[in-house]
This record gives sequence, C-alpha cells and structure tokens, in this order.
Amino acid sequence: MDKEIYCCEEHVEIALDVVVNECETFPNIELLKQEKLSTATCEYCGKLPVYIVSN
Ligand SMILES: [Zn+2]
Repeated sequence: MDKEIYCCEEHVEIALDVVVNECETFPNIELLKQEKLSTATCEYCGKLPVYIVSN
C-alpha cells in the first residue's frame, strides 16, 4: 500500500508514526516542493504543509 501524508512541522512525528504503524516500513520524509503548496494542507491541522511523509 502506498501512503503519502502531507504535514506541517508540528505534526510530522504523528505522520511518521502513522506510516510506521500502517505500512510497517521505515518512512521517507521529504521537504514539500513549492509547486504543490497551493493545493496541499496538513492532514492534522489544515495549515500549510512542510513535509511529505511516505512509505
Ligand atoms: Zn499540522
């Protein structure tokens, strides 16, 4: 299963935990590219995201 979570700095640890628990793999964390910022929000608070956490 592929998973991608957009998250802000504050919620990045939650996103990492979710990926570890759901995917049982070590998560990848990337800085969000500028061009995606306009449509993305943090999954936990709705603010501008800073990172993408994926498996
Ligand atoms: Zn957040």
